[in-house]
Amino acid sequence: MRLPGFLGFPVNQLAIDLGTVNTVIYVRGRGIVLNEPSVIALETISGVRRVKVVGNEAKLMMGKTPANIEALRPLKDGVIADIEIAEQMIKHFIRKAVGSKSRMRGYDMVLCIPSGSTVVERRAIRDAAMNSGASCVQLIEEPMAAAIGAGLPVTQPRGAMVVDIGGGTTEVAILSLSGLAYSGSVRTGGDQLDEAIASSIRRRHNLMVGEMTAERIKCQIGAATIPNGIGQEIPVKGRHLVSGRPCEITISELEVAEAIREPIGQIIAAVRTALEQVAPELAADIMDEGITVTGGGALLRRIDLALSEATGLSANIANDPLMCVAKGAGATLEDAVYTGVLQPA
Ligand code: ADP
Ligand code: MG
Repeated sequence: MRLPGFLGFPVNQLAIDLGTVNTVIYVRGRGIVLNEPSVIALETISGVRRVKVVGNEAKLMMGKTPANIEALRPLKDGVIADIEIAEQMIKHFIRKAVGSKSRMRGYDMVLCIPSGSTVVERRAIRDAAMNSGASCVQLIEEPMAAAIGAGLPVTQPRGAMVVDIGGGTTEVAILSLSGLAYSGSVRTGGDQLDEAIASSIRRRHNLMVGEMTAERIKCQIGAATIPNGIGQEIPVKGRHLVSGRPCEITISELEVAEAIREPIGQIIAAVRTALEQVAPELAADIMDEGITVTGGGALLRRIDLALSEATGLSANIANDPLMCVAKGAGATLEDAVYTGVLQPA
């Protein structure tokens, strides 16, 4: 999938989905060239901290680092927590995406931003991009990019609803005529599901499990509705809180579904709020077209069922939901029909 820059084919237009969990980079004329976890590992040698690795390699180190290495997610809570570190990560990703031999300056960049982000947050991300070699930065709101990437007719006078369930947030938006008629965001996403699973295991089994383990459980047997019966069961390893020893237990689909019921409820509530506020003509369109679900959370089993039961509308999982935002932002580089959705940084 990765095509590093080669002579005679300059990479000069990029779109970046800098997600809290995954970073995806699209290059004009080539498509998606990078898709890696938004993780950076920093190493301190004689008091100097420098970047060791980013992305896949850094994720493998999470929770397993020696004292002089830190593997962290600089965007963990939806906004850039540490701008300098985030900037380092973006730089390394761009270098990886375009090949280190390519020129490192002068890119046109489209950056995806959460729809609720403040002026200060927008400026921070713009500055990080400029310092990473961009000469021109334009912004696109994430739900807009997600909708384009999911193939919704955002430029038409036709209401469309998109629910993007990411790592740290869920964004709900209603779009029409290249604009956002409504946008709302809740700080509930995949991370909160993982935390809910870990805390339920701690309470019910006295077992401490790491973030990665909780995420794996969610992806393997997590579901947005309660199953009939206990469902599938899988073994889980962690550290027993009382004995302090490594220990293995069995956890069921039912238990996981119960553990994540509350954060799932928050996601559903955000969708309901959006529907309550939408103008009647747009509501009519949404009744016909249903809700489109994007982001990694769209892969949670039965999330479509949970959303359609709660709203009475059909819920459709987008194709390749993890790639929608980057694909949609990339589409703005390829097709002038989308010029109107971009904003100056
Ligand atoms: P972000 O845009 O914030 O980086 P993504 O859209 O990339 O987030 O989605 C990442 C989230 O999706 C993570 O919380 C991850 O655990 C979750 N996810 C990925 N695959 C699955 C799956 N099969 N089931 C449930 N959640 C999943
Ligand atoms: Mg995202």
